[in-house]
Amino acid sequence: MDMRPPAPLPEGYLDFFQSLESWQNEQTIKLRKTYVHTKENLTARLNRHRKPLLSQINPHIDGDLLKDLLDSFLDFLDTARPSVKDPIGQLRSNFHQLNFDHLVKSFLAPKESELIAVAKQLAIPEDFWIFVLDHSLRPVLRLIAESYREDLAAADFHWDFPTICPICGAKSHFSRLRQEDGQRIMFCDRCFSEWKTRYLFCVHCGCDRPKDITYLSIEGHDAYRVYVCQQCHGYLKTYDERTSGQPVDMYIANISTIYLDMLAQEQGYTNHDENQVT
Ligand SMILES: [Zn+2]
Ligand SMILES: [Zn+2]
Repeated sequence: MDMRPPAPLPEGYLDFFQSLESWQNEQTIKLRKTYVHTKENLTARLNRHRKPLLSQINPHIDGDLLKDLLDSFLDFLDTARPSVKDPIGQLRSNFHQLNFDHLVKSFLAPKESELIAVAKQLAIPEDFWIFVLDHSLRPVLRLIAESYREDLAAADFHWDFPTICPICGAKSHFSRLRQEDGQRIMFCDRCFSEWKTRYLFCVHCGCDRPKDITYLSIEGHDAYRVYVCQQCHGYLKTYDERTSGQPVDMYIANISTIYLDMLAQEQGYTNHDENQVT
């Protein structure tokens, strides 16, 4: 199937995210041998507190584990993104003064002000700092999330906040329509969790009037759509497996469909990231 986007992406953009995903896959495979997550009762937790799992539990991620992952991630970035050589060097030269146990706690809480204070202390850009911490921890988050895959897929699984990942709390911007029955399944690009939501339904405002929910797509690329809501002007990118007859790598599909974000935003729709609470 043709995965080339109809609008060109910046040079090297897709390659970078493909190699980033490979790095994450390698780390997840390595960690599977050593990192143990004690499984929680997901349904009971979500029903009782109505908050993503990771904001309710201590996942016991050791500071040394973050240190190793961050070290490896900086090596990866050094090669894959030479343009961030300076902040990488600056971070490396201050590695010894970082309190990794505390950083894990601040990141998971999340206590953004504490993380920003560390970036200031290290004299590195805040965005870069959050990006490297987030991506270094993603392999662990993915391993934790794997334990709950079956719970999330269960017929009676219910979650009131379709755009928020019930495991890690990240905002989702992408869904797929399952080939066998058209079921809409949300995807988290941070921990790779998937959870069901309704098909003709706005994930932002809950509107379910068929005439208010439509979709936009580009000719010749009809499997990649952006569903829009006339009530709240929200949009959701979606891959329809029924059109192509096959699944895709959801992480890469999300990245390679930036043209759909542009299309929706040009027409006045929003992904409501301004309302993000986690
Ligand atoms: Zn997640
Ligand atoms: Zn809506």
